[in-house]
Amino acid sequence: MTAPFDSIAIVGLGLIGSSLARAIRQNLPDTRIIGYDRSPDVCARADAIGLCDTYHAQFGAELAEAQMVILCVPVGAMSAAAHAMAPHLAPDAVISDVGSCKASVLAALRSALPGATIVPAHPVAGTENSGPEAGFASLFKGRWCILTPDDQADAAACARVADFWRALGAEVETMDAAHHDLVLAVTSHLPHLIAYTIVGTASDLEGVTQSEVIKYSAGGFRDFTRIAASDPVMWRDVFLSNKEAVLEMLQRFSEDLSALQRAIRWDKGDELEELFTRTRTIRRSIIEQGQDDAKPDFGREHK
Ligand code: NAP
Repeated sequence: MTAPFDSIAIVGLGLIGSSLARAIRQNLPDTRIIGYDRSPDVCARADAIGLCDTYHAQFGAELAEAQMVILCVPVGAMSAAAHAMAPHLAPDAVISDVGSCKASVLAALRSALPGATIVPAHPVAGTENSGPEAGFASLFKGRWCILTPDDQADAAACARVADFWRALGAEVETMDAAHHDLVLAVTSHLPHLIAYTIVGTASDLEGVTQSEVIKYSAGGFRDFTRIAASDPVMWRDVFLSNKEAVLEMLQRFSEDLSALQRAIRWDKGDELEELFTRTRTIRRSIIEQGQDDAKPDFGREHK
């Protein structure tokens, strides 16, 4: 296929930015990649891996060569990054991002870059690791990328951005930014909040030692610790940026948790069993739709 963009600037060479660079290299080898990271050390590490064609710790004249610019910084840093790059952008550049919350990022980009062609995106793919070494080319393969253009967005630019993500192996869906934020509040943000809480609670328990928590973690706790090891800055920004949707989902969750508490207290085994049967079906649907591996215990080896 013809590459949707001849040159792409990636701003932020962490897990997602570096995975994008690798995926572009693999799937769109003729596309030129201009890499930005505020840290010269990260630029040097990205250079050692060979992620981009050029590396810059500050925005300058080379940014005008980018037909698309993708912001891959924490959600709370999008506005400052957009303001800093504004004077150097080509007037017809397509501006996109990979932020985990969309309404706040869209508002920040519209305010920093009035009149720009903006097509926000969120690849629903990631790991608990950070930095340029953590990325890999197949991260987006078979995963969904959600585009959240507003009604000012240019339809041709949206189609190009969708083609770009499909070229990296992603499946593309388009939805309204507010709806995205509500959906992701329940599928991603709330699970992270619960994991952070459980791991925090366990580590604060006085009657159970830290070593016991670690030693017997295979009972379920261990799977929460993977999520709770996610980047602290990224997740701080997600909760502050998607405050309303997260609080709404948290309210629902608290009510459901109270119902479970009541069922346990009053020996309502049938209620517990009915819920656990429903939740097992959801896990099976995720596997059937290719969004996770069918191997038991996430495919861990048991020697
Ligand atoms: P990451 O590995 O920590 O990389 C973040 C990048 O942003 C680094 O290059 C970092 O620069 C830069 N950065 C941090 N704070 C900054 C600031 N104040 N100003 C300018 N640059 C700053 O994080 P990531 O996981 O790639 O996340 C990047 C974006 O992807 C976030 O918006 C996140 O919501 C979104 N996202 C993440 C996932 C996931 O699972 N991780 C999934 C989908 C989308 P330094 O190198 O100098 O620290």
